[in-house]
Amino acid sequence: MPAQPTLSEVIAALDTLWPRDRAEQWDAVGTVCGDPADPEARVSRVLFAVDPVQQVADEAVSKGAELLVTHHPLYLRGTTTVAADTFKGRVVHTLIRNGIALHVAHTNADTADPGVSDALASALGLRVLRPLVPDATDPSGRRGLGRICELERPLPLGDFVEQAAASLPVTAQGVRAAGDPAMTVRTVAVCGGSGDSLFDAVRDAGVDAYLTADLRHHPASEAREHSPLALLDAAHFATEWPWCEQAAAQLDAVAEREGWDLRTEVSRTVTDPWTAHAPSLPQSSPLAPPSAQNTAEQTALTDNDLTPGAPN
Ligand SMILES: [Zn+2]
Repeated sequence: MPAQPTLSEVIAALDTLWPRDRAEQWDAVGTVCGDPADPEARVSRVLFAVDPVQQVADEAVSKGAELLVTHHPLYLRGTTTVAADTFKGRVVHTLIRNGIALHVAHTNADTADPGVSDALASALGLRVLRPLVPDATDPSGRRGLGRICELERPLPLGDFVEQAAASLPVTAQGVRAAGDPAMTVRTVAVCGGSGDSLFDAVRDAGVDAYLTADLRHHPASEAREHSPLALLDAAHFATEWPWCEQAAAQLDAVAEREGWDLRTEVSRTVTDPWTAHAPSLPQSSPLAPPSAQNTAEQTALTDNDLTPGAPN
């Protein structure tokens, strides 16, 4: 008969999937709260999420989870307090008061096989060829940062951008792109999370497009000046959320193998901090020709927001 594993057994399984010593030096991974030494601490339900924010901690409570696994660390730079009147301390108190442990797999999950970018590629319907920046310590050549992928069939950039936006979790940002919408995309580099430090590797890979998150003006502008590489910028949360499903499935497989009575669940709470997006209106832009601006003003006087067909 399946038995509930101890917290220590589940954490050992997580550490096997995403060994802590494979995290970057600056990172803070592993168990944040919970008592793995307590033999009475059993786990029947595990919630996976991107961000250890209050809403997710509350969700873990309401779902009866004894373990919350997040991709992002709660404390990355250290702290001097976990007082409940700080927002992070409140998360810690909520979790401990309800007997919930928190475990983080961050850069050690990014570079894993499968890793965060494998999950992203899979969500986008891409075939993974190899890591973008291979982990030199991995003889199989499968671990590393980012992934170089190919499309099932080549698509114009405009279509690929729409396909990406339709495949990823809904966020206010959606997916923005740089490049000729008619150019053909056959190969794509992807990196879940902030990937603008990898432009050299992307250029060396010779791919048609690069999809990541948090692309800033200067690295993006310089990348576009360097080469015709197309850029796709998605919400950070949206590029990493697919990992939660992949990670939950990996723990499910361990539970099956070990005969554990353990249920995993993936949080569907959107924790992307951005909540609204308004597209620019070309006719009201200060860069529009004066004649177009006049037309826009006239439109504004005669139309209102509720008019069907008004720009939105
Ligand atoms: Zn991230």
